[in-house]
Amino acid sequence: MSVTEASAAYEGLADRLHAVQDGIAEACRAAGRDASETTLIVVTKFHPASLVEALAELGVRDVGENRHQEAREKSAQLAGLDLNWHYIGQLQTKKARQAAQYAAAIHSIDRAQLVDALASVDRALDVFLQINLTDDPGRGGAAPSEIEPLTEHILGTESLVLRGVMAVAPLEEPAAQAFERLAGYSDRVRALAPEATAISAGMTHDYAEAIAAGATHLRIGSAITGNRPDAR
Ligand SMILES: *Cc1c(COP(=O)(O)O)cnc(C)c1O
Repeated sequence: MSVTEASAAYEGLADRLHAVQDGIAEACRAAGRDASETTLIVVTKFHPASLVEALAELGVRDVGENRHQEAREKSAQLAGLDLNWHYIGQLQTKKARQAAQYAAAIHSIDRAQLVDALASVDRALDVFLQINLTDDPGRGGAAPSEIEPLTEHILGTESLVLRGVMAVAPLEEPAAQAFERLAGYSDRVRALAPEATAISAGMTHDYAEAIAAGATHLRIGSAITGNRPDAR
């Protein structure tokens, strides 16, 4: 497809992307932060590779996926585009080495076995420690009590580069309050790993609150892509 064709096939995509970019700039201004401190990761899960291609034409460099099979296929199809693929979903230990082949960063580190599996890959890989902001152990992320041991475990590897923390705001609590807690968890990680300053937080409905609480990596999907097609 030519430069205009792929994005023209997705009506409104450019407008929605620009509206979110403006919203990020505005939230940064309100928080007294510089927008250059933030990275927008456009979450493209369930959408076809052609939509990712259209986003790339609009200047997007960072995309997020939450299912390994889908992420692997799309990243292979679009290998020529030089995109950074962020893996943001639950990751099975036995798929970890494969995910490390295409992912620039893995945001969902929540247990020691996953650290070990990823560390066995012979290349540097950015990782985020995902923390569960709820009391429900069934939700993604490590319990807060695991922060120090998991941080030490990641720091003990040769190849994993700990960038910071990641979380999803719970539905049952104001996002601002949950992200304040996350900022405190980030402080605990940085006490052991001073370079791990990143905070991956903020989605379509709560990115302004996340920015106010210090988020650096915003994972925004439907506000940009439109509604997701049904999960297959
Ligand atoms: C789907 C997803 C997002 C993006 O969600 P939207 O509400 O569409 O912006 C962000 N983070 C994770 C972990 C996701 O699974």
